[in-house]
Amino acid sequence: MPDPLEPSDSSLPTDAHRPYLAGLVLAGRKVVVVGGGHVAQRRVPAFLAAGARVSVVSPEVTPAIEGLSGELSLVLRGFEDADLDGAWYVVAATDDPEVNARVVAAAERRHTFCVRADDALGGTAWTPAAGHHGSVTIGVLGNREPHKSAALRDEIVTALRDGHLHAVDAHDRTPGVVLVGGGPGEPELATVAARHALASADVVVADRLAPRELLDELGPHVELVDVAKLPRGRSATQERINEVIVERARAGKRVVRFKGGDNFVFGRGYEEVLACLEADVPVTVVPGLTSAIAVPARAGIPVTHRGVAHEFTVISGHLPPGHPESLVAWDAVARMRGTVVLLMAVENAPAIAEALVTGGRSATTPVAVVVDGTMPTERTVLTTLADLAADLVAHEVSPPAIIVVGEVVAVARPAHYGRG
Ligand code: SAH
Repeated sequence: MPDPLEPSDSSLPTDAHRPYLAGLVLAGRKVVVVGGGHVAQRRVPAFLAAGARVSVVSPEVTPAIEGLSGELSLVLRGFEDADLDGAWYVVAATDDPEVNARVVAAAERRHTFCVRADDALGGTAWTPAAGHHGSVTIGVLGNREPHKSAALRDEIVTALRDGHLHAVDAHDRTPGVVLVGGGPGEPELATVAARHALASADVVVADRLAPRELLDELGPHVELVDVAKLPRGRSATQERINEVIVERARAGKRVVRFKGGDNFVFGRGYEEVLACLEADVPVTVVPGLTSAIAVPARAGIPVTHRGVAHEFTVISGHLPPGHPESLVAWDAVARMRGTVVLLMAVENAPAIAEALVTGGRSATTPVAVVVDGTMPTERTVLTTLADLAADLVAHEVSPPAIIVVGEVVAVARPAHYGRG
């Protein structure tokens, strides 16, 4: 059934009064939704999020509403006027116009506002197209054109999110450090929370693998520290990063430490947490979509598959097997039957493949190397443990690349492995 957010009936006299847009404080208050179909399904979560005591009255409900039965009261029968007793707000959303009319009439007698889903002009309240950004809620009641309202709402929320509209109050701007995972590279794969954090930043300390396009969206007042350009060698660089984030936060800035993937997956994120804790600087974490899972996924390769892989193991290949500082039990990994996902492993891949085969994994085990995952230059090289070393050279593979080892690769590319 149609779900008008607001009246779309152009017969509304042009001199009709404008609706009055209010923010209802529904926490702990009874809201009755009559009808258990798709309209109800779309409205109920917002009422629950507002803390309302929701009652759904309907002989039948969708499985989604049934799934919410722990959070609301379900009255599984036809509507009776008394269902509205004690209600502060009502939605008439059955597919029977007569029932909806009865609900509106019963609400009217009780001086309770009532939205009528099938005939918005027949009700006493309209649902605005609503959106949220930080602590701000946007509500749009358009010129009787619900689709335009929804589109305008989307535009406003997107503009706030991308920083084209500035709602200074929408963001938490407390000084401190926020560790933000930016996802595997493509800006669309950064979370909403990551974008909010970037929009709130005074300083952004970014890595080479952090989604660069999102940095273009930063306002001119934001200081951008490119870690790739910090002087000195590898471990000293981490110390310098710790110093930079702590210094800036102590100076009252909100510092976003922005990385590719997830900061806690081979991202040295917790070293930064410890540096902040030691310096008494507040630190919070926004998890990101790790490339370990997202990059294979975007190449069409699942890390698990029923009946094929009951585990996946994510390993850093920055040290070769047998290296005195290695913490990986490669012999144990070789005995596992599931998927092995290797990061930072291009250089040591030949030694790793050899250790896996020596440890018992078949030399014919399918391997996919996904280079520049989610970026315009993304490509996938399909091979096996036996041929991995030669194929990395033949295809001129250079980092960043994810190496996926296991039967899941053949599940995704059966033709290549002669299984189709
Ligand atoms: N914290 C990151 C991983 C950092 S380690 C995360 O959670 O994704 C860096 C390694 O990640 C690279 O050497 C490469 O193996 C992998 N990687 C990150 N982004 C990648 C991408 N877009 N495509 C392929 N590999 C990627």
